[in-house]
Formats: sequence, C-alpha cells, structure tokens
Amino acid sequence: MRLRRVAAAVAALGLAVSLSACAGGAGGTDLTKLRIGIKFDQPGLGLKQGDTYTGLDVDVATYIAGKLGTPANAITWTQAPSAQRETLIDTGQVDLVVATYSITDARKEKVSFAGPYFIAGQDLLVRAGDSSITGPDSLAGKKLCSVTGSTSAQKIKDKVPGVNLQEFATYSECVSALAAGTIDALTTDDTILAGFASQDQYKGKLKVVGAPFTQENYGVGLKKGNTDLCNKVTQAIKDMIADGSWQKAVDKNLGPANYKAPAGNPPTPAACS
Ligand code: GLU
Repeated sequence: MRLRRVAAAVAALGLAVSLSACAGGAGGTDLTKLRIGIKFDQPGLGLKQGDTYTGLDVDVATYIAGKLGTPANAITWTQAPSAQRETLIDTGQVDLVVATYSITDARKEKVSFAGPYFIAGQDLLVRAGDSSITGPDSLAGKKLCSVTGSTSAQKIKDKVPGVNLQEFATYSECVSALAAGTIDALTTDDTILAGFASQDQYKGKLKVVGAPFTQENYGVGLKKGNTDLCNKVTQAIKDMIADGSWQKAVDKNLGPANYKAPAGNPPTPAACS
C-alpha cells in the first residue's frame, strides 16, 4: 500500500516535471532556463568581469528572458564571438544571441532574427592625436583592424577595395593593437568604439571619428524557423521599449561613454517571418 502510494507520487512528479517543461517551451526551446550568447569584451554592451555580466545586450537579454519566464539566475551566459554566432545558434549551443548582432540577409539564411532592438552605425576609432583619419576615404596607406565574421570587416572591404585590413577574433584585440601603435584605426559599430574609448586605460588616448557610414540593426538571433520563439522575443522587445526599460538600459549602459543613440531609436521591431 505504502509502496504503491510512493510509486504514484513519483509518477505524478514525473508528469508534473514533463508538463512544466512543455508549458515553458517555445518551438522546442525549454524556457525555464536559457543559454544566451553575448560578447564578453565589449564595455557598455556585453562585458564579463569575474562572474558579473554588464551592458545593454545583457540587460536586453535579461529582460527578454524574464518575459519568457526565465529568471536572471537561470540564464547561462556564453561567449559569442562575431564569427561564431550563426554556428552557436545552428548547433543548439545557445538559445538566443544578443551580441551587437546586425540583422542581414546573408545571416538570415542560417538563423532567424527578432528585432531590431537598437540601431547603431559603423565608424572608426583612432589614436587621440591622429587627425589624418576622418572617414573611410582617408584610409589609404593606413593599417586597419576589425573582426572576422563581422559586417564591419565586410563593409570596409566593399567600401575601400584593397584596404590594409587585419582581422582578429575580438575587438579588444584590435583596441590593444591600436593603443600599442601596430594598427592605425579600428572599424566597427560606434557603440562598441565609444565603450572602448571611455575605458579608464584608454581615456584621452583614443577617439571615435564620429562620422558613421552604415546602419546596423541589432537583432536577437535564434534558431532558423522558430517563429513561436521569435514572436515571443519580438513582443518582449516591444514591451521593453513601451514600459521605459529600454530607455533606462540605454542611458545606464551607453550614457557613461557619452554615446547618443542615433535617429531611428528606439526602432520598431519587424514581424517574424
Ligand atoms: N554589428 C556588427 C556585426 O554584427 C559588428 C559588431 C560585431 O561584430 O558584433 O557584425
């Protein structure tokens, strides 16, 4: 008798567990815990310091997770370098990527995007005393740095054919090279550049040129074709903008770098397809 009751309780528990896993799901994604890809080395956007994660992408991701039913302490943060984002999503190593990830047609072949949740522009970071670089047109004879797999590297090669471009895996490697004098400029989104320029060790030593020449629409990357999850993330982004949390997160994370969100912000997220 006793044994039977225990067995029934165990069975009920098993059912409850599988039911709750089901209830939290969105197209097969378990929303009770989420693995989210972010950058680990971009101040103001995605930065890991010890066990602490900060930045606009971290706040956007945490807000979205909350709306999906995942508390902040149930998020596993994974480093998502530019060139690895599609693979991390496609192979199921992460559920979402929130990592200064521009929505592009080429990437849409491999992953789906919710958003945009922010609009940035590609710019140049140079040493503070350098007035010779004013934009893509003044890069002849200069050594440039960007990151493999980024829109930044691709767009500068398209815009300035034959440009002397060194590609690293992360932007922080480019910043070190710029400060050390082995390269002359770093090109990527102005958000990222502003974050580096305002870091204590680079203050007064580096400056953003301030003439953005592209539009980068940041999206949340997820498994291609998971429209259910995409719709939920899109709604969460809309909620974040509507309830003031988006503005607060932008001010808190980009304010210290004196970054002013360009026209078009906050954006209107597109419909998931
Ligand atoms: N937003 C651009 C991209 O997705 C540049 C920044 C980055 O590499 O994360 O490629």
